[in-house]
Amino acid sequence: MKHQPPPPPLPLSQPPSLGAAAAGGVASVISSSNNNNNSSSSGIEAVKCRPPIYPKPKTPSFDKDRDYIGFATLPEQVHRKSVKRGFEFTLMVVGESGLGKSTLINSLFLGDLYKNRQMPNVEERIEKTTKVEKKTMDIEERGVRLRLTVVDTPGFGDAINCEDSWRVCTQYIDEQFRQYFTDESGLNRRNIQDNRVHCCLYFVPPWGHSLRQMDLDLIRRLHRKVNIVLVIGKADCLNKQEVRKLKERILQDLEDNHIQLYQFPECDSDEDDDFKQQDRELKASIPFAVVGSNTILEVAGKKVRGRQYPWGVVNVEDPEHSDFIKLRTFLISTHMQDLKDTTQDVHYENFRAQCISQISQHALRERGKLKRDSISSTNGFDAAITETDRLLLQKDEEIRRMQDMLTQMQEKLKQTHLMEMKKNDSVIDV
Ligand code: GDP
Repeated sequence: MKHQPPPPPLPLSQPPSLGAAAAGGVASVISSSNNNNNSSSSGIEAVKCRPPIYPKPKTPSFDKDRDYIGFATLPEQVHRKSVKRGFEFTLMVVGESGLGKSTLINSLFLGDLYKNRQMPNVEERIEKTTKVEKKTMDIEERGVRLRLTVVDTPGFGDAINCEDSWRVCTQYIDEQFRQYFTDESGLNRRNIQDNRVHCCLYFVPPWGHSLRQMDLDLIRRLHRKVNIVLVIGKADCLNKQEVRKLKERILQDLEDNHIQLYQFPECDSDEDDDFKQQDRELKASIPFAVVGSNTILEVAGKKVRGRQYPWGVVNVEDPEHSDFIKLRTFLISTHMQDLKDTTQDVHYENFRAQCISQISQHALRERGKLKRDSISSTNGFDAAITETDRLLLQKDEEIRRMQDMLTQMQEKLKQTHLMEMKKNDSVIDV
């Protein structure tokens, strides 16, 4: 099997949280902070800080290239600007506790986001409602900075009654959209912080035969708001055949219930063969069956991230043992930008269209009220009628603007929808 050049090697000789930085290598955690929804936040802890290195644009030689205009450096200009600005990515992690979510996130991003974690006891779990906890980590790799926010939902599905679990998740996603919508309409539009959830890793337990009713209910409520990527946690509990069967059943369940997870975009025809092959393999691996570990073990003289069992070692990064590397490649190296674009172009646009439609309906209602009031109370009073007319005209104008905007957005969404259908031969409801 051919692969793209693999992602940078892990710092196997160091503990995961500091390994890369200490090795002077690929990724370093600059700072991390935790804060949960109740606004209690811990301080920011500086782990390593290094000035970013921006690639210099190539200066053209005018003697050699007489016809040179200069726009060929545009990609470099864009690159420099993006690197300078840094990147933001928000990942929501959903699934009941004990499925290996924290371990996987730490293994994926070589961090330690769950240092001060406290596990609830049984009584607390029975009572427990789902919370939202936000943890932020600044990471840097070859001068490129990424602000990663992990939104955890501790307590999800833990209580006997988990009716509200989905509500907490959808509310959080909507709140972030609403905040972005408000910021976009505000004065300082240049420096909006994007806290929208770009991807939701939904953990499925390995011990079921397929998705549970609870999983289907939650995914159904989320799939039009966020890019959902399914992950089978603790996949080392299953053998190869069992993994294959579970994957097949899950995909069948999703199809039967008309649930649409994140759709991989089609590979461009001009991509090289290795990339196309990698893309095919990623698509074929969905849902990713992963094993997580933050322990570095030595196997045949080689350091590997793995889990030691009496009968041997599960090497997390061995594609024969787990889809960990595929998930990491997908999430970080190949599809992070597409996840952000889909959030902006599909999910956020859907939310925006709903908001504008609500605002215009509200304006219509106000107009109707104004009209009724004016008929009942101002008969015969010219001055009052003129004032009411002015207000009515103003409302009419407001409604007309909203409706124009709505028509344009619906048109845009329809286009995106058609493009998606062409690409993936699938349906997204707008
Ligand atoms: P979370 O509550 O979902 O965040 O789960 P944790 O990451 O805290 O993991 C719970 C327990 O499962 C810990 O003892 C981990 O060491 C263990 N664990 C984590 N990932 C795996 C895995 O892939 N396979 C197995 N067998 N155990 C795992």
